[in-house]
Amino acid sequence: DYGPAPEAQDIVQDWLGRHEAGFGHFIDGTFTGAGETFAVTNPATGGEIARVTQGTTADVDAAVAAARKAQPKWAGLQGHQRARHLYALARHVQQHARFLAVLESLDNGKPIRESRDADIPLVARHFYHHAGWAELVAEEFPDRQPWGVCGQIIPWNFPLLMLAWKVAPALAAGNTVVLKPAEYTPLTALAFAEIAAECGLPAGVLNIVTGDGATGAAIAGHDGVDKLAFTGSTEVGKILRRQTAGSGKGLTLELGGKSPFIVFEDADLDAAVEGVVDAIWFNQGQVCCAGSRVLVAEAIEARFTERLKARMARLTVGNPLDKNTDIGAIVHPVQRDRIAELVAQGRAEGAEIHQGAAPEGCFYPPTIITNAQPASVLSTEEIFGPVVTITPFRTPDDAVALANNTRYGLAASIWSEGITQALDIARQVKAGVIWVNGTNLFDAAAGFGGYRESGYGREGGREGMAAYMRSPARTGQETDLPA
Ligand code: NAD
Repeated sequence: DYGPAPEAQDIVQDWLGRHEAGFGHFIDGTFTGAGETFAVTNPATGGEIARVTQGTTADVDAAVAAARKAQPKWAGLQGHQRARHLYALARHVQQHARFLAVLESLDNGKPIRESRDADIPLVARHFYHHAGWAELVAEEFPDRQPWGVCGQIIPWNFPLLMLAWKVAPALAAGNTVVLKPAEYTPLTALAFAEIAAECGLPAGVLNIVTGDGATGAAIAGHDGVDKLAFTGSTEVGKILRRQTAGSGKGLTLELGGKSPFIVFEDADLDAAVEGVVDAIWFNQGQVCCAGSRVLVAEAIEARFTERLKARMARLTVGNPLDKNTDIGAIVHPVQRDRIAELVAQGRAEGAEIHQGAAPEGCFYPPTIITNAQPASVLSTEEIFGPVVTITPFRTPDDAVALANNTRYGLAASIWSEGITQALDIARQVKAGVIWVNGTNLFDAAAGFGGYRESGYGREGGREGMAAYMRSPARTGQETDLPA
């Protein structure tokens, strides 16, 4: 029983119909704030699906004030009482899973198979896991306190999952939240706000303000925000680091990547080929830790590339709501054009482009690039699309040098049947997350984050919890990782 049940699509249409007049912001437990609205579109069709309010500084002020008012009482609850709220959120997400999956695919363009089997289950898992932390936090971090009010700014590639990554640990630690979803994909955050109200989360604990970068900047610059958590582009991450410098705010940044996917001669080739499918064709390649640079041992390069091309030819690109779709729509025409421009630039630089088929519209075909020079645009720029380069290497040392030849350092994937070799390479590759014979595996219990321009701080697990608490002995801007 794969794919969206027809009734789930009806529920989404009913819900959108009920909000035809537009959504306000979710502040202090209710939807408020009339104002200028903007269109949210379905990237697969280009059609408008909803209108959402552009958050002003006054809206951000109101949301921060609500969060401030609610915070002492929320932090003053016993851990097990906060845990009950997080368990309720997890259960309600599961109850509404089909609705949320269809809504996510409509808004973002991702295949329903992914929103149903990856995004939404991982959201529920994140709240279950952090409900456990809410119970343990006082005992596990006896000298720490919640920051207070957390400002959270998230991207469009995993809209509800990024909300979960931000909101669950913040609430577990006793913070209250003002969150801004990305302007392309605000709908599941608004649906989640309704779910929070439905399960009795106290007013003001979670506030959602919609809008664009200006709304995000108002949150980041607000004096009443004690800690800022951001996921998105390296460019905006740098702006936020400058903007918060010297403010005493806590800051964690999850930014871009250009992650290596290293295939040794002794790798299980079929598994590694499937690994590339997950690494770069999952979510149209719009994944910060996507394995976008395949580095393959010279001796098997030709064989590997042929098999990967054959596999690429079997991928179906098209309607995100079709259960057989492998690659859905690119989130927005601006992003699709950016991918196309980078590939055209790479072609002009002498790279060879191999592409599958894609329908007209906001789609981009799965793409394999060969003969891209290490310093070329396709080997160095984060493309954020279904585009992977293949580069041969001679020795393990060459593989490590190529892997580390990047300004990023978010993730890496190593494929080898020799565990000694795999672990040896893992120690030398500079990346925050390393998978061996696997890729794009996420768990609420594991810290996730990058080196260098991929950002700093960790989300998930113990380190992620620590980042949502201040240590009384330290002041100023810090990642607050445990020593
Ligand atoms: P972005 O960084 O512009 O947007 C991310 C979020 O930040 C959005 O909610 C946006 O409204 C907000 N924002 C934008 N400008 C801001 C500002 N000055 N102050 C505060 N908030 C601001 O990213 P994008 O335009 O959506 O995507 C551009 C590129 O970013 C992509 O092509 C990709 O390379 C990268 N990206 C990375 C991730 C990731 O998970 N690391 C996710 C999405 C995009």
